[in-house]
Amino acid sequence: MKQEQFLEVLDRDAAESRWHAALALRALEPEVVALEAALGRVLAEDVRAPVDVPSFDRSNMDGFAIRAADSFGASELEPVRLRLNDETIPTGVAPRQTVAPGTATSIATGGMLPRGADAVVPVELTDVDAATRELIVRAARAPGAAVSFAGTDIGCGETVLFAGTRLSSRETGVLAAIGAGRVAVVRRPRVAVLSTGDELIEPGKTMRPGLVFDSNGRMLADAVREAGGEPLFLGALRDDEPVLRHALREALDAADVVVLSGGTSKGEGDLSYRAVEGLDPGILVHGVALKPGKPICLAASSGKPVVILPGFPTSAIFTFHEFVAPVLRRLLGMARAREESVRAKLAVRTQSERGRLEYLLVGLVRDAAGALAAYPMGKGSGSVTSWSRADGFVRIARTVEIVDAGQEVEVTLLGGSLAATDLAIIGSHCTGVDLIAAALMARGFSVKFLAVGSEAGLEAARRGECDVAPIHLLDAATGRYNTPFLDAALELLPGYVRMQGVVSRADETRDTAALLADPALRMVNRNRGSGTRILIDGLLGARRPDGYAYEPRSHHAVAAAVAQGRADWGVTIETVARAAGLRFRPLRSEHYDFVVPRSRAHRPAVHALRDLLAPQSALRAELARAGFASELSGDSVSSRT
Ligand code: AMP
Ligand code: MG
Repeated sequence: MKQEQFLEVLDRDAAESRWHAALALRALEPEVVALEAALGRVLAEDVRAPVDVPSFDRSNMDGFAIRAADSFGASELEPVRLRLNDETIPTGVAPRQTVAPGTATSIATGGMLPRGADAVVPVELTDVDAATRELIVRAARAPGAAVSFAGTDIGCGETVLFAGTRLSSRETGVLAAIGAGRVAVVRRPRVAVLSTGDELIEPGKTMRPGLVFDSNGRMLADAVREAGGEPLFLGALRDDEPVLRHALREALDAADVVVLSGGTSKGEGDLSYRAVEGLDPGILVHGVALKPGKPICLAASSGKPVVILPGFPTSAIFTFHEFVAPVLRRLLGMARAREESVRAKLAVRTQSERGRLEYLLVGLVRDAAGALAAYPMGKGSGSVTSWSRADGFVRIARTVEIVDAGQEVEVTLLGGSLAATDLAIIGSHCTGVDLIAAALMARGFSVKFLAVGSEAGLEAARRGECDVAPIHLLDAATGRYNTPFLDAALELLPGYVRMQGVVSRADETRDTAALLADPALRMVNRNRGSGTRILIDGLLGARRPDGYAYEPRSHHAVAAAVAQGRADWGVTIETVARAAGLRFRPLRSEHYDFVVPRSRAHRPAVHALRDLLAPQSALRAELARAGFASELSGDSVSSRT
């Protein structure tokens, strides 16, 4: 049917120019708003100052207005005496008297310099002789000392801000200083946001198997707001062509830009692009050589941009920033966005698809020498957290297939700048680590956690790229956890133990041996290289039950598979099993410890971590309550098989 549209997959730039040629991308009309409502808006016109700032010659100190020449030659040893005028100049009042030669007038910071005076001597350099009403000046002052002359900050008629500027508090402060009570700003582009998909439910509703919370809708509506637009969120729509057509009409009537997400690929039920086809001129580009983002669909209706973003959240937000945000900037009369980037070494070898420009989300950490290392977030375009946790992204050109570990890459920063990190944690994820991270943050440390698994965490520690690597690696030869993997440059902070066991749904009451022996049951395995897999293989011996090849990568995935009936039994940790409502049969405890590179052991946040993990600490008690028991005797694993 319409799948042939994918045959013409364009380069990013070619796609953008073809699309823009069909759009009317002028700045929208201006509107005047009160200054207090101007934050985040974009100036429609250049702003010229109608006044001088300051508007008068202003004293910058508490002291005395004098004629500088009267102080010449004054010193601690030979002060000069001036007659005090019978006036004190506060702020906000025009002075009455002239400062005649040989006289001085008391003046406050911010006070208006009186006629005759050309300098201020601060009160610290003076004494007052009350008897004679004379000022004793103990230092010479140059003309202009401690005075801001009128118009030195902003001169009347000067252009202080230019059209196209997005107003932050720095700019609204300037506008206030020149007395602008109202400001001409560009009308916010109204952007209709529609999610599509039969599987979507609104956040706040109850989850059911197979459904997905609509994250794109919220994310895109708020991204519109962040970009200076006004989102009109029209909700999540069913995959139904008439429904979509109707909603699209409504959106086009109400909005300057229409953004849909989902339903743009070739799958059955992907109908969004068909609803867009009927527009004039309709679809201009369907398929761009990007990863993530290939199925994006760029369309127009009488000059109005209409976009269908791919449904996967990371794809949706990337393509929003690639294609929609620049359009919003044009409608707001803003210049192209400037990117901030840094150089970093890629931490792990990464494969990329030839023929597509790939955007690789990365987290950044610093090694001891201050050099940056970039860790791919590694969760794929279906992930929402990759985007929210990444520091930036690397563009991998369409001609490149492999970027080797250690190769230098350019990282475009997502936040525009890179925040410093007090404690970089790289390794295996566990909700116990979340408790530890929270405790550190409560003590004022900034913590960055890159969940890359035990082995990559250990490598990071060996390279000195993290402060701590949480690991749970079972050495098959010795049967010991973690300690066999250390070297002289690494130290181990004892963590906690997590009980691993065989899980089933609650109504299955038989013991482990019976489950293993029942050929009607289907198991769920774990990925090779995980400690749990070694445990499972030990348990099974030569047996290969149905489901042995089903190898999800996390304790949570195992629990979900059993809870949802894709498998009947598997091995996971107790906390996860209990949270999923599964029956748990203890096998043995797994040691989850913290590897610290000695080169970074002196850092304050590492000391704080050490304190937090001390025996009998409050955090230890909290961990125990969450199901993570302390077992400080590192190697003596209690096997309860
Ligand atoms: P689609 O582009 O419709 O084929 O969707 C691709 C994937 O993205 C599917 O797994 C969808 O469930 C998911 N998805 C689509 N729309 C949304 C959304 N609004 N929020 C979260 N996930 C979504
Ligand atoms: Mg869909």
